[in-house]
Amino acid sequence: MDIKTVIRTIPNYPKDGVMFRDITTLWQDAAGLRTAIDQLVWPYAGVRIDKVAGIEARGFVLGGAIAHQLSVGFVPVRKQGKLPAATIGEEYDLEYGTDIVEIHEDAIKEGENILLVDDLIATGGTAEAAIKLIRRAGGTVVGAAFVIDLPDLGGRARVENMGVNVRTLCE
Ligand code: IMP
Repeated sequence: MDIKTVIRTIPNYPKDGVMFRDITTLWQDAAGLRTAIDQLVWPYAGVRIDKVAGIEARGFVLGGAIAHQLSVGFVPVRKQGKLPAATIGEEYDLEYGTDIVEIHEDAIKEGENILLVDDLIATGGTAEAAIKLIRRAGGTVVGAAFVIDLPDLGGRARVENMGVNVRTLCE
């Protein structure tokens, strides 16, 4: 199936001029969700992955399903202040201002291979911060997987320039 047909676009959300790509319609479609997870995972067949890291919040749903399929653990990459135990954080730029993503400092062990997952890559700022965090924790990012790429915003190139292989399903 063409998963693009079950992704909805909401004009002017969360603010005027933005075309928001809404994957909740993909999730509620049984074949759509199954197909998206399978297509995100198959290029990593034969690759050693120790954990999946998913970016809050939509990366939790996709990353959890992918971790289950790979029979590995899951690490949440969260916005600042949401994780209960000791954390490490990384700041990144937004259109206006900055934000911080965090992981638990004991979430990733030295030498672990990590697959990073989110729903969408735009400028790549969020993914870049997550990759820096994983590397600081001693992990190796063996791939970054997203359902949607917004190619005009250059995120794929930004992440690939960090030496990370990028997998996306549609533009
Ligand atoms: P970036 O940091 O500019 O690459 O933005 C990617 C982050 O913003 C991801 O965590 C996405 O979930 C979120 N995001 C940006 N635009 C959209 C959209 O149109 N739909 C869903 N999520 C989006």
